[in-house]
Amino acid sequence: MNLQGILIVVSGFSGSGKGTIMKELLKRYDNYALSVSATTRQPREGEADGREYFFKTREEFEKMIAEEELIEYARYVNNYYGTPKAYVEEQLAAGKDVILEIELQGALKIKEKFPEALLLFVTPPSAAELKRRLVNRGTETAEVIEQRMKRAEQEAEGMESYDYYVVNDVLDACVEDVHRIICAEHGRSMRNREFAEQIKSELKGE
Ligand code: 5GP
Repeated sequence: MNLQGILIVVSGFSGSGKGTIMKELLKRYDNYALSVSATTRQPREGEADGREYFFKTREEFEKMIAEEELIEYARYVNNYYGTPKAYVEEQLAAGKDVILEIELQGALKIKEKFPEALLLFVTPPSAAELKRRLVNRGTETAEVIEQRMKRAEQEAEGMESYDYYVVNDVLDACVEDVHRIICAEHGRSMRNREFAEQIKSELKGE
C-alpha cells in the first residue's frame, strides 16, 4: 500500500484549538511531521524562533518568496505567513504524513498544486464558543480579537473547500477523530493506483 506520506492541510478559525490538536497528535503518533512556517508577525510570549515559527523581517520574507523557497504564502491580519518547501518535500519522501497548519488562502493554493492533499477544517461547536476561547487565551487585545472574529466570518465562507470538518469539543476525542480520518485516507483508491496495478498483474499470473 501507499508508502508515500500524505500532505495534510489543517485550517480552522483562530481559537478553534487546532494548534493544541496538532501538538497532541504529534505526541501520540510517530507518523506525523509538522511543518514550521515562516512569518513576519511578532513572536507571542513563550514562542521560540524555529519552534512555533521562523520569525522573519518583511525583507527576509520577500527574499524567500523571490527565491521560491515557499510552497505557498499568504497575508493574514497584516502579516505574511508561508510554508518552507524543503522540509515538506523531505518528510513526504521519508513516508511521513506532513501537516501544514495554515489558513484558507494557503489551503486553496496547496489544493491547486497538490490535488491529492487532504484538507481538514477544525471548528469549535459554535461561534459563541469561539469568541469565549479567544478571550480566555488572553494573548490578544480586544481589537485583534474583533479582527479575528471578522476574519473567522470570512474564513467560514471557504469551509466548503475542505474535505472534512473536525468539531473540537472534547480535545481527546477530536485528536482521535483526526488520526482516524488520516488513517482511512491512506487506503483511498486514488492514493493506491500502483497497488491496484500490482494485484491485477499478480492475478493474471504475470
Ligand atoms: P497565528 O498568528 O495565530 O499564529 O496564525 C494566524 C493564521 O496564519 C492561522 O490561521 C495560521 O493557521 C495561519 N498560518 C500559519 N502559518 C501559515 C503558512 O505558512 N501559510 C499560510 N497560508 N497560513 C499560515
